[in-house]
This record gives sequence, structure tokens and C-alpha cells, in this order.
Amino acid sequence: MSNHESGLEELADRYPDVPRFIILKLDAQRRGIKLTENAFNAVQEPLYRYGRYSGVKGEETSKGVYPGPLILRDGTTVLTSAAAASQFENPYTIDHVEGKFYIHDNGRRIDEVDFTPRPDYYGKKTSRGVPMESIASARPQRIDIQPYRYCHFWDTQDQCKFCSFFTDLEEQRQLSDEKFPRALNVEDIYETVREALKEPGRISQINLTAGADYSGAVPFDNEVNRYIEVLQAIGRNFSGRFPSQLLAPAYTKKQVKRLYDETGLSSYCPDIEVWDENLFKWICSGKDKVVGRNEWVKRTIDAVEIFGKGNVYTNFVAGVETAQPHGFKTIDEALKSSFEGCEFFAKHGVVYLSLVWRPWKSSVFAGQKQPPLEYYVRLVKGLREIRRAYGLTSDNDDYKHCGNHGDSDLERID
Ligand code: SF4
Repeated sequence: MSNHESGLEELADRYPDVPRFIILKLDAQRRGIKLTENAFNAVQEPLYRYGRYSGVKGEETSKGVYPGPLILRDGTTVLTSAAAASQFENPYTIDHVEGKFYIHDNGRRIDEVDFTPRPDYYGKKTSRGVPMESIASARPQRIDIQPYRYCHFWDTQDQCKFCSFFTDLEEQRQLSDEKFPRALNVEDIYETVREALKEPGRISQINLTAGADYSGAVPFDNEVNRYIEVLQAIGRNFSGRFPSQLLAPAYTKKQVKRLYDETGLSSYCPDIEVWDENLFKWICSGKDKVVGRNEWVKRTIDAVEIFGKGNVYTNFVAGVETAQPHGFKTIDEALKSSFEGCEFFAKHGVVYLSLVWRPWKSSVFAGQKQPPLEYYVRLVKGLREIRRAYGLTSDNDDYKHCGNHGDSDLERID
């Protein structure tokens, strides 16, 4: 890697076809954000109070609550939480002056920003008395539900090496299922979705994801049964298919067909996490042991026969392919590999999207170095161009329905 790291302004000049807002988003996701005391006090207003169930793990505070995702002036969402500021070495700072929020880079004011308004259903309870924000967390225009709060790849230390999900549940992990139910109650899910949908114009997508549970006669059978039950409960709020995505392991064709036939699910996303075959085996050993890398790819492609072209997605954790000691040593090699993966999937009708890698302190990759910002700028530009060449758009994963991918954000300018 080169020692010179170009910053926001330099890259905005050198890559005029990537909007400055998107470069700022990528860098804020990469470096994190923190709040000044003024800003922290300002987000205690009812409009901003997301509370501890922000959907992003962080440190709890006795002084107040954190806001939801950051929003840039063009409507771009930045899914990074100030609650996680201690995870980052050099985060952007958000200040609050005369009624407005501003983002700063090492003391230099960059732009005015805002935070996602608190959704109306936060603070309400299901008929069983469960806080609805513990059932579904909200982004600006979508809700996320984790029906199963445990990943069994962790049982054998085969979790994905970048993963920090569920590490805040370490104590609960030791408890029996009775004391800490891993699966959410489906009626709580149904009622929470019903309530969330009452807010006019707010929610346009429902996403499900969870830890992996590969138990069952065929691996993942129990998990698939659980998702079907949950999706059917959510589907009682709709007639027919509804805007939704399931981020889950790569299932057999039979399992995928059941999900499509028995529920109103509209898109499916088995995450590849990293394209390079050897790096997949190293970084995602659980997925490799239970499914196998080539089988994972095959199943992802097979799912297009069921969900249709453009309705099957796969995310990769952008930058993780440079993790050492086995990862790529240059960003050119890293980009080449990811573009190859994107093109391969695009040829088969699968949308391959990037997520910014953050080496969380509770992940195996804690302390690893992220690629420079320029890698992310070149990456999002290249991915968008490849998908466009194959006539693919990210309708279930664009800036409104997700907001976590700089590359699908770019489709707004197509
Ligand atoms: S499948 Fe991988 S990324 Fe997902 S929760 Fe398990 S370890 Fe984490």
C-alpha cells in the first residue's frame, strides 16, 4: 500500500463522477463519527432519541441516548453510530451550533448534516409487553428484524473473522434458552411491523437477518422453517408479496423455493463476504465448513431461477480481502478480485454489493488496517459500472431501501 492517503477533497477533485456526498459517506463509515457535548445534548430531543436499540452496537451511557443514522444534505444515509465512536482512531466530529448539526474533520467544518427522525413505533410495546424497538430497529426508510439472536458458527470459533455481531450478548450466550430466548416471538414481530407501517410514508422495506443456525435434517432446515413462520406473520400485514429482503446463508434450491412459495419475500441475499476462494475459506471458515465456498456461489446463482434476475443479492465486506497475513497486499489486486466477483455474479443476474469493513475490537480482525479511502472510491465506481453494463439495478438495496452501500447509492445518478 502507498503511504500517501488522499482525503475527501482531493478524491472529490480526482473522481468527479463520484459525488462528494458519497465520498464523505464512505469515509464516515470507514472512520466513524463522534458527538461533541453540544451535539449529544441536542439529540436528547424527542425527534432524535433512538435509544439503546439503535441497531448499531455501542457503549451505553447513563447521560442520555444516541441518535439514529446520519443523513447528509442530499439525503444520503450514513449507517454509522456515534455510540461506537470508541472503536475508531480518528472519527469525524458532529457539532451542534445555533440549531444545526455540522460534520467536522479534525476541526475543519465539512458540511451541515442531520439525523434520522425517531420512528413513531419506538417507545411502544407489543401486547406481550415487549418494547417494539427491541423487535425491529429502524433506518430512515426500512426496518431490520433479527428473529434469532445467536450465530452457531461462534460455537466452534468458526465465526467470520470480521464479525462482531452478538458479541454484546456474551453473558446471555451462557444462559439457557428459557432465560434468554434466542428466537423472537412471531406475534411480537407481527405487531411491531403493523405498528411501524402506520407512520405515513416512512417504511418502504423490511429486512430480516440473524445469526446462522445450521441445525436440521438438511443443514439450515430449522432456520428456514423459522424464517417462513416469521415471514408469514409479517405477511399478514400485506396482500401478496411485500418489499423485503432476507440476508441469510446460501440455502439449497429446495429451501429457497419454499421461502419464495410459502411467503411474500421479494429478495434474497446470501452474503459471499469475500470473493477470493482461498480468502473465503480463511475468513469465513464456518460457511466454508457447512456449505463450502463453491457450493455457496452455486446456490446463490441457482436462487436467481426462483427469485428472478436482480432479486438475488450478495454483499461483500469491502477491504477485508486486504486483511493480513493472507490478504492482498495492494489495492489494485484487491479491486481486481472484487471486480471479478461482481462481474461473475452480474453475468448470472446477481447483484454484488459492497459494505465498508470496520475492524471491530470484538472481531478476530481487531487491529487490522483498513484500506485507504481511495480504494472505496474506486470500488464503488467500478461496481456500479459493471452492474450497469449487465442491466442490473439494486431496487431492494438502493439508497432508500438500505443506505449501506456507496455503490448502490450511485444509481441515483444513472
Ligand atoms: S454468519 Fe458470519 S457474519 Fe453472520 S453472524 Fe455468523 S459469524 Fe457473523
